[in-house]
Amino acid sequence: MSAPLWSGDSLVAAMGARLAGAMPAAVTGASIDTRTLEPGEAFFAIQGEARDGHEFVAGALAKGAALAVIDEAHAARFSGEGPYAVVPDVLRAMEQAGAARRAELEAQVVAVTGSVGKTGTKEALRLVLSRQGKTHAPVASYNNHWGVPLTLCRTPRDVAYAVYEIGMSNPGEILPLARLVRPHVAIITTIQPVHLAAFASLEGIAEEKASVFWALEPGGTAIINADIPQTELLRSLAKAGPAGRIISFGESMDADVRLVSCALKPDVSTVDAIVMGQPVTYRLGSPGKHIVLNSLAVLAAVTALGADLALAALALGDLKPPVGRGARQILQGPGGAFALIDESYNGNPASMRAAIENLGRMPVSGRGRRVAVLGDMLELGPSGPDLHKGLAEVVLGNGVDKVFACGPLMRGLYDSLPSTLRGAYAAQSSGLEPLVLDAIRAGDVVTVKGSLGSRMGPIVKAIMARF
Ligand code: ATP
Ligand code: MG
Repeated sequence: MSAPLWSGDSLVAAMGARLAGAMPAAVTGASIDTRTLEPGEAFFAIQGEARDGHEFVAGALAKGAALAVIDEAHAARFSGEGPYAVVPDVLRAMEQAGAARRAELEAQVVAVTGSVGKTGTKEALRLVLSRQGKTHAPVASYNNHWGVPLTLCRTPRDVAYAVYEIGMSNPGEILPLARLVRPHVAIITTIQPVHLAAFASLEGIAEEKASVFWALEPGGTAIINADIPQTELLRSLAKAGPAGRIISFGESMDADVRLVSCALKPDVSTVDAIVMGQPVTYRLGSPGKHIVLNSLAVLAAVTALGADLALAALALGDLKPPVGRGARQILQGPGGAFALIDESYNGNPASMRAAIENLGRMPVSGRGRRVAVLGDMLELGPSGPDLHKGLAEVVLGNGVDKVFACGPLMRGLYDSLPSTLRGAYAAQSSGLEPLVLDAIRAGDVVTVKGSLGSRMGPIVKAIMARF
């Protein structure tokens, strides 16, 4: 059996907590959600947006939590055996525990940030690094003020590699999280108009993302995208910090990890790249040009870590798209098979473009059509309407045959399309769903995409339930 994640006293000490009840010998994990909590884990009663974790403390202990971490202010509410670790602020205590675990690690640590592609890149790193040493990385997109410290708390002491995803919605969020992570290697996947509502410009977004470089361990490596207008800004910001090395990746001729060519197929790509002067050819098990570019960042990180490049390139053949990010499945529709591409996880101008370009590369059979089912891209501020209408050019340039749209912003795109391309429009995804189900026919390729808040996931589920 592997060593417990924490001894009770080491966790309590890391948080500077007051213990009420018997000290647990071992803590096997960290949780903030009783629905997924496993017996033996510590439960942190975090204040969420909708609910306060203190409401779930009794449930956590009943499920076998080894320890409940609670606020001093709520402590009087709890009696019984606990055990409770009482702290001034639970989130702060989780950060302290995360920082303490980070301080104990001998692992090489990677931080992944960027406007899109963080989770995909993080999962690719998990895949390639775990073939070379014990690796820890977060569940899903655990990249915010609670996701990062929770992931740190969950990191086993004996890992060789640890990968953390760092996200942001508002200015000032990256640096404190990056300071908890203290990466040896920090990747900025790309800078794109995402969360524009909270930032004045793309330069502003680049500056915010680049604060991850301030938290690099001395002499660490900053990995930057060579193909974006903000490349030089990122480079100069990286140079001003503790980075010892900067590696750029992309298609640009001067990129340190450079794409030479790639063959893009519906489910896989074949890539020729030059990695720090060394030619590397590999197969990538997840489709799309954007994933090819992300894979260059992965190989840049592998190089920076001193890990085996050939082994990493080989492992990329086994990559699969994370849920809702481009996996293609063949379903039996009326009169024959059709393909469903589930892109429902999220949508922003960069990933929308990538998804539509990918749809454009899909072969269709018989009377099949390339069908895009699109929901609003949210959080774009005043640029939102133009960024939606601007998709018309992408739709027309990639051989899309029919667009089904929902949401007030997508109305702008829908109305600007030629009538032959208009499938149907509905104000909400629930209204669009039956229209899409009725329209699907044999040979189609159907891509479903939009922001999480646009509820495109239920359309994917409905298609899978029907066919
Ligand atoms: P979040 O901020 O929601 O955590 P993320 O940065 O983790 O997002 P992913 O979940 O990896 O991003 O991908 C989100 C979407 O962006 C997916 O549809 C994915 O296919 C697409 N995507 C990934 N990388 C890129 C890229 N380099 N350019 C454009 N789109 C991308
Ligand atoms: Mg993510």
